[in-house]
Amino acid sequence: AMARLTRRSTLGLAGALTLGGAARAQQPWPTRTVTIIVPFAAGGPTDTVARLVAEAMGRNLGQTVVVENAGGAGGTIGAQKVAMARPDGYTLLLHHIGMSTTPTLYRRLAYDPVNGFETIGLVTEVPMTLVAKKDFPANTLQEAIAVIRRERDNLNYANAGIGAASHLCGLLLMKAVDTPMTTVPFRGTGPAMQELLSGRVDLMCDQTTNTTEQINSGAIKVFNVTTESRVPALPNVPTSAEGGLPDFQVTVWHGLYAPKGTPAPVVQRLSQALQAALRDERLVARFAELGTTPVAQERATPEAHRRFWQADIAKWRPIIQAAGQYAD
Ligand code: ASP
Repeated sequence: AMARLTRRSTLGLAGALTLGGAARAQQPWPTRTVTIIVPFAAGGPTDTVARLVAEAMGRNLGQTVVVENAGGAGGTIGAQKVAMARPDGYTLLLHHIGMSTTPTLYRRLAYDPVNGFETIGLVTEVPMTLVAKKDFPANTLQEAIAVIRRERDNLNYANAGIGAASHLCGLLLMKAVDTPMTTVPFRGTGPAMQELLSGRVDLMCDQTTNTTEQINSGAIKVFNVTTESRVPALPNVPTSAEGGLPDFQVTVWHGLYAPKGTPAPVVQRLSQALQAALRDERLVARFAELGTTPVAQERATPEAHRRFWQADIAKWRPIIQAAGQYAD
């Protein structure tokens, strides 16, 4: 850990000097491709959001922004990769609510899940949906609950590992209906969706950014959205409260991070580029089709992101502790 800290601060200093020094006029950051690490597999909801953000940020920064998938272990593998990357603004992390739950779910991590990062800004808050394979024998949330209670030993619930939003949503559902189910972890809910489509798993809870099109085409069943109001892209899907489970509430917020020690001017420039991306017409239109909206500009800042994240860690800690669910 000592060696890592030393290396990090040295690089941080070098980065700051480059920006502040004479090279600045000729070589403003960024001078090459920026990589956003998504800590889940390609084709899933976090990946979908990240690719739209990357493309729009790239236009604003005048450099290519690429997405790299590093799925596994509920998002902690990708997060660790970024926490340990050079803090030069060229390696970023686009993660979700897992940033609030992993500090409690994991008691031993090889990186600091809170202080290992600089916050750049919030991105969006996405509703979740409880979905099932097409021939699941229920059509409403109440019918689904009855099947879950009756068939609990024969049902599989897919998620993206402990720390994923799909894990948290499943934890809330199982607590609400007081029934445990067998969970099957994937490197992301993109691959999990393929298994749901082919009927090899029974149930999943995932963001609308991964489920809206499959729901609207009739490829999978849906029982509810986990928000207080209905989602415009899914007008016929009842809310948890309408389905009789008012406490089954969760939205998946996404945020953009850099490794701790990334120079402040680079973080500010990234935040500006994020704010511009969130106003991008193509991004806004695609978000709407997928059941979500970008956050307001004042929330896409390092300070607002940090405050929101800290409050959210405190919000989920007692819930996770009460459930007694730890990853290690
Ligand atoms: N957001 C998903 C989840 O937490 C994972 C993914 O993006 O693939 O389950």
